[in-house]
Amino acid sequence: MTAPAPSPVADLPKVELHLHLDCSTSFQSVSALVPGMTLERYRADFLAPKKCVNLVDYFRYLAAPLALLQTERALRIATIDLLRQLADDNVVYAEIRFAPHLHQLEGLRTEQVVEIVLAALNEGKRLHPVEARLILCTLRPDDTAQGFEILALAEKYAEQGVGGIDLAGDEAGYGLAQHIPVFRRAADRGIRMTAHAGEATGAQSVREVISELGVRRVGHGVRSIEDPAVIDLILEHEVHLEVCPSCNIQIDVFPTYPDHPIDRLRRAGVSLSVNTDARGPTDLTLRAEYQRMHGVFGWEADDFRSANLDALAVSFLEPPQRRQIEGFLK
Ligand SMILES: [Zn+2]
Repeated sequence: MTAPAPSPVADLPKVELHLHLDCSTSFQSVSALVPGMTLERYRADFLAPKKCVNLVDYFRYLAAPLALLQTERALRIATIDLLRQLADDNVVYAEIRFAPHLHQLEGLRTEQVVEIVLAALNEGKRLHPVEARLILCTLRPDDTAQGFEILALAEKYAEQGVGGIDLAGDEAGYGLAQHIPVFRRAADRGIRMTAHAGEATGAQSVREVISELGVRRVGHGVRSIEDPAVIDLILEHEVHLEVCPSCNIQIDVFPTYPDHPIDRLRRAGVSLSVNTDARGPTDLTLRAEYQRMHGVFGWEADDFRSANLDALAVSFLEPPQRRQIEGFLK
């Protein structure tokens, strides 16, 4: 038996813009927090099946990590461990997102949650060679007041490592109306923005977040492939798509990997990046994702390099650090 050929793409330096903290608890971090945790139990409770019915079905597998991430110790261990996972994956820059108000079950205030994760981020950056920023999420079912609270946190901690805000959650079950004032105020105040759309719902949801929320980055956005007019809108406004192929397939937006539109979108001229979204429930690394894309779509090192440079160009990183990271990618 011969050893597998070395991968031309898996070891490349990478940028990851779309990654959820609460969807990235590894067996290592869970074992540190739950005495007697076994690999079997971890797989049963923390990993979703390879095919879920839809996004809401997939959300069931976030219950275990969220139940765990309610204390300073748990948030600290999970954040530092995520930076370890990123360094192992040769990710040189990452944006890590989470909704602070989902971590209050044991009495933490949202400010404390953000401060704990920021402190852990800085501690993790000293241990592992990864640059990173945080993105704070407001969720589709949240009301406007909750969104303003997230925006206020993003403003308060902008100098300490919070890069911007995101709209996440059940996009098929909830509309946009109550989020529009939040994103308009964010734009007025120079807070950078992204929003999930075009995954669980169709191309129209991508049009909405571009037109109504004013975002120039969209989490997923892959169902814009269903409407050429939405592709035109994306190109016209130079919108970047944070694409997470394996996650889309897991929630059955597309049946199999070759059905995924990432390569067609790229050939249409769309700026996009390759991301995991969820290292936990999806049991995924970017190495594995790059390898799959190489195998299925024939992407080579230059294709990944240009996607990473596109990602960096729209990242929430300050220009001097951006130039530094650019040096690692070339
Ligand atoms: Zn996401």
